[in-house]
Amino acid sequence: MTTIGKHAVVLGASMGGLLAARALADFFDTVTLVERDVLPDGPVQRRGVPQGRHAHGLLSGGLQALAELFPGLPEELAADGATVLDGANLSLISLTLSGHTLNLNGQPSRPIESYLASRPFLEAHVRDRVRAIGNVRFLDGHDAVELLMDDTRRVTSVLVADRDGGAGQAISADLIVDAMGRAGRTPAFLESAGFGRPPEHRIAVQVAYSSQLLRFGDDVPRDRLTLVGTVPERPCGGSLFAYEDDTWLLTTAGMTGREPPTDLAGMIAFVEDLFPAETVAALRSAEPLGSPATFRYPASVRRRYERLTRFPDGLLVFGDAICSFNPVYGQGMSVAALEALALRDCLARGGDDLGRRFLRAAAGCVNTAWQMACGADLAMPQIPGPRPMSVRLSNWYTERVLTAAEDDPVVTEAFFRVMNLVDPPSRLMHPSIVRRVAAGASRRHRTRRPAAPAEAAVAPLG
Ligand SMILES: Cc1cc2nc3c(=O)[nH]c(=O)nc-3n(C[C@H](O)[C@H](O)[C@H](O)COP(=O)(O)OP(=O)(O)OC[C@H]3O[C@@H](n4cnc5c(N)ncnc54)[C@H](O)[C@@H]3O)c2cc1C
Repeated sequence: MTTIGKHAVVLGASMGGLLAARALADFFDTVTLVERDVLPDGPVQRRGVPQGRHAHGLLSGGLQALAELFPGLPEELAADGATVLDGANLSLISLTLSGHTLNLNGQPSRPIESYLASRPFLEAHVRDRVRAIGNVRFLDGHDAVELLMDDTRRVTSVLVADRDGGAGQAISADLIVDAMGRAGRTPAFLESAGFGRPPEHRIAVQVAYSSQLLRFGDDVPRDRLTLVGTVPERPCGGSLFAYEDDTWLLTTAGMTGREPPTDLAGMIAFVEDLFPAETVAALRSAEPLGSPATFRYPASVRRRYERLTRFPDGLLVFGDAICSFNPVYGQGMSVAALEALALRDCLARGGDDLGRRFLRAAAGCVNTAWQMACGADLAMPQIPGPRPMSVRLSNWYTERVLTAAEDDPVVTEAFFRVMNLVDPPSRLMHPSIVRRVAAGASRRHRTRRPAAPAEAAVAPLG
């Protein structure tokens, strides 16, 4: 393995930071993870990751990337109690997207595995794996305060402050990675240092979540994963995930400013017309564990660092700090895992021009997920933003894919693989799929009028 430098520092030790550290550890003598929270042992909610109390799905593409970074991790998750959905049998998943309930009863031609576990459980397992890497050290309970540059305008160190009030210290490094999430301060730093701010794309989705952890008694829902996405005329949805230790998480969601209830009885009423009747019946007898949690997410944000004409040496940006996705599509952790693989590949080619090479590669990881999420968001007329012909066409076609997927398990499988970031969206344009989509759409046309293109919504994932 090529050694790129002596010391790399990663700011933020959530999923993004942990995965970046994993990639860096093979190329630097030492990697230091600086984290504001005091990190727990085991799966515990923490302040820096408030989203951990809400539905967190790991897409199959993300699971595959995690398994490449940490061989054996999926088996470990399963052994410790994560719910494993047999990749050859998707019938324990109930998915209703844009008003279409997908036919998941066929046997997929290739297995596509899904693991369900709470966010703290998954993060704790990844953290333990990173803790076990000999050259990674954690500096938790410390705030990253400021990036510092030398005379050549290379980023050379970061000022950190002990949260307990101890003295601040400057930590020098050959490379510093901002993995501090969507609130990361790199845009302001770049501007003050004369590099300019990265162009920023925002989609004001105004998502609100309320979630309740549950345990079922005798009446356990048949489906391990129930997910209902929004439609333009009803901008609300919900999910019920079977997690580890026989716990389940009910999340109710509103978009475009619609607020879900914040008490369990209200949440069950909210999903009454959305979820299968037997799931709603089971929810009525469920025991709540702790109190409901709420979260407001005003806008998806993508920062186009790769478009800056100049970027300082010694600095990278990673994970949500590059792109924070509308959470209803469940993409953030999976894209961070794909970015970690891209970082590993960039490092394997040496340290020259690393920043620009990695930011371009990361943009490639973000593109597909961002386009799918934005297309779906912009299918809601309430969400402001330009809708170029490409978005309208893609939404028009996706509506027909989902229509066909109600009956045709082959189309369902193709769509499921794309949505899970396993296959590229171009897979849905394969002539064999296009033929089935056309047949499915005309079958439906005989029984009901299809939605007008401008109103069609695409693929909320969870
Ligand atoms: C409500 C919600 C639901 C979501 N659901 C899903 C889902 O279903 N599936 C999915 O894949 N993704 C989901 N995501 C996204 C996912 O949580 C993130 O993509 C993932 O955590 C990776 O983000 P990150 O590590 O880059 O940033 P974050 O998770 O935001 O972590 C940033 C870290 O930096 C630390 N930090 C911040 N400032 C400082 C500082 N100054 N000094 C030191 N440390 C600092 C924080 O304490 C934190 O640990 C969801 C997000 C939200 C908001």
